[in-house]
Amino acid sequence: MRNIKYAILGGGPSGLTIAHALISRGVPDHDVVVIEKERTVGGLCRSEEVDGAPLDIGGGHFLDVRNNEVLDFLFCFLPKDEWNEFERIAKIRLRVIEVDHPLESNLWQLPKADQVDYLESISRARAVHGDPAPEAFADWIVWKLGERIAQDYMMPYNRKIWARDFGELGTYWLKKLPDVSFRETLRSCLDGRPLGSLPAHGRFLYPKRFGYGEVWRRMGEALGESLVANCAVEAIDLVSRTINGRWRAGTIISTIPWTQWPKFCAVGREMESQMGALRRTSIDIDYVPHTLGSRSHWIYEPDEAIAYHRLLLRSNFCQASRGYWTETNSCRSPSAVGWRHRNEFAYPVNTRGKPMAVTKILEWAASKGIVGAGRWGKWEHMNSDVAVAESLAAVKNHLANGKWA
Ligand SMILES: Cc1cc2nc3c(=O)[nH]c(=O)nc-3n(C[C@H](O)[C@H](O)[C@H](O)COP(=O)(O)OP(=O)(O)OC[C@H]3O[C@@H](n4cnc5c(N)ncnc54)[C@H](O)[C@@H]3O)c2cc1C
Repeated sequence: MRNIKYAILGGGPSGLTIAHALISRGVPDHDVVVIEKERTVGGLCRSEEVDGAPLDIGGGHFLDVRNNEVLDFLFCFLPKDEWNEFERIAKIRLRVIEVDHPLESNLWQLPKADQVDYLESISRARAVHGDPAPEAFADWIVWKLGERIAQDYMMPYNRKIWARDFGELGTYWLKKLPDVSFRETLRSCLDGRPLGSLPAHGRFLYPKRFGYGEVWRRMGEALGESLVANCAVEAIDLVSRTINGRWRAGTIISTIPWTQWPKFCAVGREMESQMGALRRTSIDIDYVPHTLGSRSHWIYEPDEAIAYHRLLLRSNFCQASRGYWTETNSCRSPSAVGWRHRNEFAYPVNTRGKPMAVTKILEWAASKGIVGAGRWGKWEHMNSDVAVAESLAAVKNHLANGKWA
């Protein structure tokens, strides 16, 4: 049994960043341990060599360029000159035409008659008329974007990626979607160019010689003995804050899914029900050794007759590679025909009840000296740059005033 100050559960981007942030701010490394169940760290951001080149096994992963503090931190492990910068090319397949994403900014790429139809439909959207936002997911999409974009893209695409009844989904998270006004859409059709603010990854970085997983692999390596990989958390004593009977921690930082916690310890009936209410999707990544002609980095596929919802053309961002991979909700996946990796925990689902459940879980956790962090600690769709930014900020706060939030 070892006494330590900080036990970090999970060696994905969040856990690794928290460990480095603590150590670089003066916490002795023997007081920090990261416990990771897989042999390699990086979580959803891991890469593997497939068909002679790196493949990102958690799906398409690109580093947003907008947060300099995050970039400076990551460049300590994979220096700036080891990354390529790209202006993203992301398309949506609308039957036989490929249009740049987001659709509302790029309707101008469609034949004129279609532009007129879409514009007419958006002009009738209730958001354009200042009506209040509805509560139901499907109604919200029509309210914001009009019937045509809803029917041709948003509804089928969301049915594919979530594979669940829309009635379960909340709308609070939709404010993260690109916000393009009707005036901007109209103007872009008249001018024949995109207008409106660019969504995440308008420009992105990707390693020159490696997959996205390399930066996290190096971060894990730099932790030395503070990292214990290939060791799943299996038992937690809430009173003594002991993990697997091996580490007794002052603070436990959980970046692993809360839905696992009832297996580790007696969390009580109320917490079992809150944790059990959290939902997630699993995503299959399938590699296809055929190089497509498109220049796109990725393509969204709303056609429900096709199982996958996104294609990643790795030969367009990963040097000396060929082929592409697909991302498919595991519920919709046909049997694998080639290389496949299943990500059991891929997307937290934004159900109506999630915000309240997460608030209660985090309150319960805080009362036990446990902190929830990262994608699964907050149960939020955060990209890796946000996971890093939040982890750096949380450690800074904690060391300055004892508070993690
Ligand atoms: C399809 C897809 C595409 C994405 N695209 C992008 C992108 O382009 N750019 C971007 O920046 N981000 C992207 N993301 C988001 C990115 O993957 C996450 O932000 C990031 O992985 C969050 O890191 P994390 O450490 O919080 O969680 P995770 O990466 O999920 O790490 C959690 C870790 O906990 C470990 N763990 C789980 N259970 C246990 C246990 N019992 N014991 C020990 N360890 C355990 C896991 O093995 C894992 O290593 C994408 C995600 C998906 C699913």
